[in-house]
Amino acid sequence: MADFDWQRRRLITQLERQGIVRSPAVRDALMRVPRHLFVPDEVRQNAYEDCPLPVGLGQTISAPHMVALMTESLDVKPGQNVLEVGCGSGYQAAVLSVLLNGEGSLVTVERIPELADLARKRLADLGYGNVKVVVGDGSLGWPSDAPFDRVLVTAGAPGVPVALVSQLKVGGMLLVPVGGRGFQELFLVEKSGAGVSRRSLGGVVFVPLVGEDGW
Ligand code: SAM
Repeated sequence: MADFDWQRRRLITQLERQGIVRSPAVRDALMRVPRHLFVPDEVRQNAYEDCPLPVGLGQTISAPHMVALMTESLDVKPGQNVLEVGCGSGYQAAVLSVLLNGEGSLVTVERIPELADLARKRLADLGYGNVKVVVGDGSLGWPSDAPFDRVLVTAGAPGVPVALVSQLKVGGMLLVPVGGRGFQELFLVEKSGAGVSRRSLGGVVFVPLVGEDGW
């Protein structure tokens, strides 16, 4: 039988050596979430390889280095109000939920109802009770739970979705891949009293954000 705990530790140590995992909080969160329980049986043995994996309905769970990079960049703290767009398997949401440590709230929006149902059940079964999984077009954000301290988009958009910026608190941060359908740049958007700034964290490849302010 595969020793998933050992494989997970080895992967996270590798991500630390690469300088992608930097903070003890993110290391701890990645160590605590069993990625192999978020992927279908057929690919379970690959759960601790650093690559995206299919989760059904043409969608993927992001590669561990990408989850680590996004989580480090977003700097989520207990007590914050967080929005994820693109719940997929629920894995990234579980990692964010560990960082919130039971304080604050996390809403994750998924466009495909079947994936949302699976993720909701999985998150509840694994004890991530503070995650709210909703079905909808996350390119429009989630106004009823706004404003947010942090917004994370895990699908590639043609531009920065306007609603996501307007639902961000002053002092808040938004991470979003922006570009073409096949290749994007990961942007960190920050809202301050003086306005909105953005900087690129480098090239990435995500499935398309499909929706009114997406593709
Ligand atoms: N965060 C996920 C995880 O941890 O498994 C991976 C997300 S996957 C790369 C992107 C997801 O975004 C897919 O599940 C896709 O259905 C979803 N998606 C695409 N457009 C969306 C939209 N407008 N609103 C919500 N979800 C969307």
